[in-house]
Amino acid sequence: MTPNKEDYLKAINKLGGCDDLIANKKIADALHISPASVSEMLTKLEKEGAVEYVPYHGIRLTPAGKQQSAALLRNHRLWEVFLLRHLGYSWSEVHEEAELLEHVTSPRLAQSLDAFLKHPDFCPHGAAIPSTDGKIKAIPLRKLAQMSVQDTSTIRKVTEEKEFLNYLQERNIQIGSSFTVLSIEPYEGPITIKLADKQIVLSYKAACHIEVDA
Ligand SMILES: [Zn+2]
Repeated sequence: MTPNKEDYLKAINKLGGCDDLIANKKIADALHISPASVSEMLTKLEKEGAVEYVPYHGIRLTPAGKQQSAALLRNHRLWEVFLLRHLGYSWSEVHEEAELLEHVTSPRLAQSLDAFLKHPDFCPHGAAIPSTDGKIKAIPLRKLAQMSVQDTSTIRKVTEEKEFLNYLQERNIQIGSSFTVLSIEPYEGPITIKLADKQIVLSYKAACHIEVDA
């Protein structure tokens, strides 16, 4: 499926484009598409006033783009909470469904959903839910891959991608799980952790997509 305009705005927001300039290449990587298609879409978004382009440095979101992308992230994450809590969806399934629902949710529906769920702060994958004015609660985190042997921490946030979430689910990894690092193989080799009395081996790449309390 080719990403639509709203998916671009969300991706730029997640990459830090509310404050920083983001390179086209990063957006292309995040959306798994060619840099050429990214340039084409960014030109359109610039014309619409959602992004501003700084030649040779990248793009960032305008206030309008910030607002639009924050609303999409908010819709997405509220639906995830709803699907998990009330419709029996699994951790890895909610993301896919929320990808569709986020685009068709009116501000009124989002507000009702938020109240119904009693104003959750985080999605089931640990991403903060922006408030209606686009503000996000930031908690200091670091990547599991940056930890040392014997360090103990708690899993707070994981990258939202279906295959990755399945990978974590198969290994019983959940938000809020506390664990200890048992061993780290050199040269970006696998990392073994102890979680709920079980030893779990994670690839280095996976450990880069898991964020823990700093
Ligand atoms: Zn999520």
